[in-house]
Amino acid sequence: MSTNKRSIKKGNSVFSFLSNHSRREFLGSVPVLCGGFVFLQHSGHAETKEGLSGTPLVKIPERSIYMKLPESALYGITVDDKIEITLAEVIKVHGYCVGGGTFSFRAAQEAFAILYEDKLPIRHQIQVKTSHHCCQAAALAYITGARKDYGAFHSWGNLILIPEEEKKIVFMDKPNSRTVTLRPLFNPHDTFEPLFKKTKKDPGFASEVSKIMNEKIEEYLTAPREKLFVVEG
Ligand SMILES: [Zn+2]
Repeated sequence: MSTNKRSIKKGNSVFSFLSNHSRREFLGSVPVLCGGFVFLQHSGHAETKEGLSGTPLVKIPERSIYMKLPESALYGITVDDKIEITLAEVIKVHGYCVGGGTFSFRAAQEAFAILYEDKLPIRHQIQVKTSHHCCQAAALAYITGARKDYGAFHSWGNLILIPEEEKKIVFMDKPNSRTVTLRPLFNPHDTFEPLFKKTKKDPGFASEVSKIMNEKIEEYLTAPREKLFVVEG
């Protein structure tokens, strides 16, 4: 996350922010924060369409998952106990594996809709067992607060990597042990791993991958649930 966005989110004074950045830079960032897309390679200019490498910037739709974290409000970290997890943040966990990050984001949305219906899930009270490792497990760890053996002590053990052959992601609300199982119909890694390998050998292929990333982000966010997962429980 860029410094300016973090300052704004944490509610720091705009003036302290402006002391480090020019007013022009601040105003330049406003359309990016308010528009329908964010660009991870945040330049402060909404019109920027390609990065320094010449590759078109991947558009990250502005989507959010809202959760509760009562301690945040208790200690005055946030105004109330509602916290926002954006798709852009989830993708930043890995840095460029947008397929896995977006797929995990959708998986969490679907699981939470079933487990919590119209209530907000409580972060750090969710256990995740997943056969999709790599950035996808990291993205779910970020969203839910679940960790394997690091991080906040109360989250240790909440992230469980299960064998890849099991092909499932199981979310459990720990206080009442309710679970929902998503059986993904494919693994985004199978699409992106070969593309990343090819680009490593031939960086000129990156523009093609960037295009595919845009298509897959759209697919993973908007496809009907039954095209992505079989849901149990
Ligand atoms: Zn990955």
